[in-house]
Amino acid sequence: MRLRHIPGAEKQIEESTFVIQEPEQKKGCWAEVFGNENPIHIEVGMGKGKFLMELAQQNPDINYVGIEKYSSVLIRALEKMEEEETPLPNICFIRMDAEDIVKVFAKNEVDRIYLNFSDPWPKDRHAKRRLTSKEFMARYDQILVPDGQVEFKTDNRPLFDFSVESVKEAGWQLKAVTYDLHHDEELVQGNVMTEYEERFSAKGNPIHKLIAVR
Ligand code: SAM
Repeated sequence: MRLRHIPGAEKQIEESTFVIQEPEQKKGCWAEVFGNENPIHIEVGMGKGKFLMELAQQNPDINYVGIEKYSSVLIRALEKMEEEETPLPNICFIRMDAEDIVKVFAKNEVDRIYLNFSDPWPKDRHAKRRLTSKEFMARYDQILVPDGQVEFKTDNRPLFDFSVESVKEAGWQLKAVTYDLHHDEELVQGNVMTEYEERFSAKGNPIHKLIAVR
């Protein structure tokens, strides 16, 4: 994702009704944020938010929270939200580094976590920053319901191979694995493409996907 400074982005984010300010204060109270007890699905590193917005349109009985580290990216999601004729009531965003995710969600508060085309952090010394590292899996373990799942898609084979091992080392089980999602008759059902997925599959790259459960 190319990052550039966008003048006014911080202010627009602070003033947006789609962005949860001080999300730590919502820990344990996310049902109040949405005004219902529907399941909560989050995407960590949502980028411009296409994937999550499509899911929110398709599934009004699920609440979605998109987490993005950079204002310059989040602002693009906010622009898309403003284009909606009727604002989606079941989606909101947080600008934060997902390293702090356990400060924002309580035990059993999240039903599903999506990780899509996460940054690869190719150097070994940065492995802990990969969103499928055992350090991140331990964080997800603290917020997911017992039968909750982590769904990860990427076209990056080294990152995917690392993730398969890391998930197992963290004590999770692989409920599903495919190295070519778009040609997997079962797993492709209901697949919603992300921005990166559209871009890389158009180049002919196969998309890998895993689903991890405890
Ligand atoms: N998920 C989108 C997609 O598939 O089109 C965007 C993929 S982009 C390569 C990865 C995104 O994750 C970037 O927008 C980046 O800023 C965000 N990101 C990376 N590490 C993050 C972290 N620790 N916390 C929150 N967001 C993060």
